[in-house]
Amino acid sequence: MRKNIVAGNWKMNKDLAETKTLISELKGNVITSDAEVMIAPTFTNLLTASESLKDSEIEVIAQNMHFAENGAYTGEISATMLKSIGVKTVIIGHSERREYFNEDDVLLKQKVDSGLENKMRVIFCFGEKLEDRKNGDQFTIVENQIRKALFHLPEESWESIVLAYEPVWAIGTGETASPEQAQQMHHFIRRLISDRYNFDVADSISILYGGSVKPENAKEIFSNPDVDGGLIGGAALNAESFMAIVNAFS
Ligand code: PEP
Repeated sequence: MRKNIVAGNWKMNKDLAETKTLISELKGNVITSDAEVMIAPTFTNLLTASESLKDSEIEVIAQNMHFAENGAYTGEISATMLKSIGVKTVIIGHSERREYFNEDDVLLKQKVDSGLENKMRVIFCFGEKLEDRKNGDQFTIVENQIRKALFHLPEESWESIVLAYEPVWAIGTGETASPEQAQQMHHFIRRLISDRYNFDVADSISILYGGSVKPENAKEIFSNPDVDGGLIGGAALNAESFMAIVNAFS
């Protein structure tokens, strides 16, 4: 059965002291939801975060990684390095990585493969830009992003994949896809996977929505049958708003 998941992507925010403060505030909240809860601090704070959340229900995950195991890749971090500090889940393909760091489908496929070879769980992000939606190309764009990075995988690998549909025009803009737009796209994605693999794979994959999810709209978005949670940016930087979103599932 698929899981509900709420993951907070802290992006390049929160230094060490701020990370400790936010984590202690998060720990002060009660999770009443059935959702798995994750936070993705910056690389420099992953170890501190994993240690302080070791016995909690909150999993610490990474925002990115390189596809190689090690070597001459200045400034990069590998799956084995993440695993060595207890990080077992990684976000791959965030639109900011695609846009500002030129990460394309070929590279993302290599990152996905490396994550899976290292027995990590991969949260794979994708989504159309505003002009794509205006042109009515959103389904083609999303289909291509998924097809190129994931459809070479054998069926069993899908147990370790979580999908995150994040329309670029809704990220950090305050503009959210309507619950109908989210449901329509998530349903499309599930059908795509069912056609490529089978109903069981499609039915068991968690598909998260990301793009200006806030305490005020979380319940409505999450109540859609094909939306299994959220990838949260801005609202994850505040314990109260993040926990309100997490508990929107209860
Ligand atoms: C994100 O960056 O993944 C995101 C969804 O950001 P925000 O919630 O701020 O739109």
